[in-house]
Amino acid sequence: MNKITIAIDGFSSTGKSTVAKQLAKHLGYVYVDTGAMYRAVTLYAMQNGLIDRNHFNVETLVECLPEININFKFNAELGFAEVYLNGTNVEKNIRTLEVSSFVSQVAAISEVRQKLVEQQQKMGADKGVVMDGRDIGTVVFPDAELKLFMTATAETRAKRRFKELIDRGDKVEYEDVLNNVKERDYIDSNREDSPLVKADDAIEIDNSNMTLDEQFEKILQLVKLAVEDGK
Ligand code: C5P
Repeated sequence: MNKITIAIDGFSSTGKSTVAKQLAKHLGYVYVDTGAMYRAVTLYAMQNGLIDRNHFNVETLVECLPEININFKFNAELGFAEVYLNGTNVEKNIRTLEVSSFVSQVAAISEVRQKLVEQQQKMGADKGVVMDGRDIGTVVFPDAELKLFMTATAETRAKRRFKELIDRGDKVEYEDVLNNVKERDYIDSNREDSPLVKADDAIEIDNSNMTLDEQFEKILQLVKLAVEDGK
């Protein structure tokens, strides 16, 4: 079977990474979570005192970019690649509500995007990749054979994210998670550089009322059609 590029974009907590991991496992493809890369840069900024509730030192973060090394290592036990920041596994640290509250500001910086997009394009150069994010079908791989755009209501998404955070043992309030989801939607959709928009040729999947199995079956059919088309 010839390998294709699968680009999955959409709003926060629409289940992009869940379906991307399922697909990668089923197809033997590489999965790249680009959100994890923006989160890792944000964690670096937090750890180095460059961003907090009251200030964001964009200039210094941009100067530090050459020192920020992000890579993925496959964890066979988990079945997916975990993200490393300058050699340290930060997979857990990047998923906090605090990182979520700053990440969209960091992701709006063009220099940050340029660095990460370049790395993402290299990671997907040989196809056989499932990549999820906000600009994969529009900027990173505009020629991807299959583009999906995932949506669900803000409340459905906030409930999912809230459950994830509570299950990990984080102390969070549902209202704060809902506000964060809405705020990120707004910043991601309205930034100047690579705003979150559905690519013209992306297929929209609203999974508000779909089970994970239903969603996976539907998307797998789309993959099969895209592979057939590419022959
Ligand atoms: O996918 P996730 O929710 O982990 O992404 C975190 C944030 O990273 C998004 O809210 C967005 O601001 C940014 N992002 C982006 N472009 C991508 C992936 C994520 O701007 N390709």
